[in-house]
This record gives sequence, C-alpha cells and structure tokens, in this order.
Amino acid sequence: MLCYSGRGEFVSLKENGKGFFAEFKKFIVRGNVIDLAVGIVIGAAFTAIVNSLVNNIIMPLISLITKGLSVNEWFLALDGKEYESLDAATKAGAATLGYGVFISAVLNFLIVSFVIFIFIRFINKIKEIGKKEKNQEAPTTKKCKFCKSEIDIDAVRCAHCTSILEEENEKSD
Ligand SMILES: [Zn+2]
Repeated sequence: MLCYSGRGEFVSLKENGKGFFAEFKKFIVRGNVIDLAVGIVIGAAFTAIVNSLVNNIIMPLISLITKGLSVNEWFLALDGKEYESLDAATKAGAATLGYGVFISAVLNFLIVSFVIFIFIRFINKIKEIGKKEKNQEAPTTKKCKFCKSEIDIDAVRCAHCTSILEEENEKSD
C-alpha cells in the first residue's frame, strides 16, 4: 500500500510508518513545541494575575468611587420597575440591560492590553540592556586605522590592507 509521506513522495506504508514517527519525534524535539508549551503555561499564570488585578484591585477601587456598588451590578430593567440587584431583576423575569457587565468586560480588555504592553516594553528594555552589556564586556573586533576595516581584536597585521598595526602591538606589550 502506498501512502503520501508529506515530503513530496509516495512510499510504502511500512516505510511511511517509520518516517511518520521519525518526523513526529523531530516535531516534538523541535524548540518551537517546547517554547509553545512554556508560553501556554506562562500565559495561563499571567491570565490569573491580570484577572486578580481587575477583580481584586481595580474593580473594588471603582466601587469605592461609586459608593459600594460593583460595576457588574449596573443595569437597567427594561420593564420600568426598580429592582435591588441584577440578580433580583433576573429572578423576577425582567429583561435587563446589563451594561455594567459590558463595561467591566471592556475595562478587562483595556487593562489586559495595557499590562501586556508594559510587560513587553519591560522585556525589550531588559534585552537591550543585555545586548549593550555584552558588547561592552567583550569587544571581539577593532577597526584598522589605515583602511578602517573591522579586524580581529588581537590582530597585529590588518587582514584587509596588510598594514602592520604597531600601535596596537605596543599596547598589548
Ligand atoms: Zn587595514
């Protein structure tokens, strides 16, 4: 039985099975899959942090301003009657416009976007600092003073113009 190998060729099933598992192993071992798994785990933990920030810090602060009424409790009963809470209105079978829930969903989105933006900015800054330190710590090349080409830091003779770099030589002695 012939099967398509996925590499532009048809092979027998036996060979294909071998190739299939070899490819699968390659796929799993490849850095991408592990990076993805790490990303998902960190993403889940990150989501918990953001949810806690919204529900336990920001929303209570907003309720403080609105005198104890949670944003989620902001609603309009469409039957024109007054209800104590969204729950009471729902239980009474009234149609409600739960705009508080909508506002908190929008706030949630904005906060998540903002936190991610700050987080990415922070990561990029750390990366930049790391790069700068690396460059300052270990310069591996220098410029030839005659032809201005980049040459090895320890070179005593330029690889490009073959000039003898006496000054550099004296420095290292
Ligand atoms: Zn040179």
